[in-house]
Amino acid sequence: MNKTKHYLKIVISGHVDHGKSTLIGRLFYDTDSIPEEKIKEIKEVCRQLGREMEFSFVMDNLQEEREQSITIDTAQTFFKTPKREYVIIDAPGHKEFIKNMITGASQAEAGVLIVSAKEGAEEQTKRHAYILKMLDLKQILVVINKMDLVDYKRQKFNKVKKQIEAFLKKLNLKPTFIIPISAAKGDNIAKKSKKMKWHKGKTLLSSLDSFKESKKITKAPLRFLVQDIYPINQKRILVGRVESGTIKKGQKVLILPSKETAKIKSIEVFMKKPTSASAGQSIGITLEEDLFIERGAVICTQKDQPKVTDEISANVFWMSKKDLKRGERIIIKNVTQETEGEIKTISNKIDSSTFKKISAQARILKNNEVGEVKIKIDEPIAIDDPNQIKETGRIILERDMIACGAGLINIEEK
Ligand code: GDP
Repeated sequence: MNKTKHYLKIVISGHVDHGKSTLIGRLFYDTDSIPEEKIKEIKEVCRQLGREMEFSFVMDNLQEEREQSITIDTAQTFFKTPKREYVIIDAPGHKEFIKNMITGASQAEAGVLIVSAKEGAEEQTKRHAYILKMLDLKQILVVINKMDLVDYKRQKFNKVKKQIEAFLKKLNLKPTFIIPISAAKGDNIAKKSKKMKWHKGKTLLSSLDSFKESKKITKAPLRFLVQDIYPINQKRILVGRVESGTIKKGQKVLILPSKETAKIKSIEVFMKKPTSASAGQSIGITLEEDLFIERGAVICTQKDQPKVTDEISANVFWMSKKDLKRGERIIIKNVTQETEGEIKTISNKIDSSTFKKISAQARILKNNEVGEVKIKIDEPIAIDDPNQIKETGRIILERDMIACGAGLINIEEK
């Protein structure tokens, strides 16, 4: 990824069939972000099927390429406006969504919630809004889609808008923009709709362009989590991503959980040896000292350390048909850190699609419920307050190699 360029990471969510794929395809099409041949190919397929250009096919096409690729960076899809580039992070509904959403690799800076004008908010609309809330996204945009199916009527838009505003308010979320669109026809995406002159606000693209990129993370404390160790020419290169802050050549660092100190000898990026690297960059580093380091080690500075603990409390969003049970043993992941643990308590349970409190103390957490979960883990890991560092402020709960739950860590001051 070109570091000097500005880009904004967005997540597109909404109930199934409300138009996520269509919108993504449309965004790519309207910003000339898909090669001409691909468009021709898709148009031809649609022609043979005897239908209009189906924009969701663009997404399917990208998805196929994505599945064939192995690197993280190409798994993300880009489109651009004259102002900047955008990266679309996996949309909910895809298998790996929760995991991708929670791991640092796909840290959204803005969220688009899509709602069909015809159906209005449905179960997943609310659930995804809850996820946006959990992600602590401050820049939220709602698009009311399929306006063509309701004759571009203002009254219909206002009705759905009211409904959405009311439930977002329950979550204390306030969308920056609410825009009537037709992803299929291209109304209010790149160009202002001629059919909805009553809408005085911006188009979707210019609204996105007005959002801010989060710069905070490069200034935040250093967190470099080791993903792999490559022995090359008698050197041991520690490969990983700078999740937060900046790492510099010559810098004195602390390695957790072992608490050893070391000095950065070099930073290695393909064919280059930069003197520093910052949040979001995947790099390799070498140390002056010959230390035994494993995957999951956290590199930080003495001054700004994460909390190393074997007890975690987190607000967990459970997404598996098989309940999470008190007493159950489960895998806990935090970026590249991984350990096993036991569920000690489950409390303050909420239904994620009605936002209703279910119970104060519970034995189980069911699919789509959120609860405060306390876990005793086998090996201590380094965690942060998600309000300060999002990447290391979250955990994934995994069962049989499948991410079943995602949690925002509560750091309790002792
Ligand atoms: P997803 O499940 O949220 O990704 O929804 P899709 O993008 O696959 O869209 C579901 C269906 O709605 C498809 O048949 C689309 O062609 C259709 N659709 C999506 N957006 C619009 C729109 O703006 N207008 C109309 N008429 N149909 C749309």
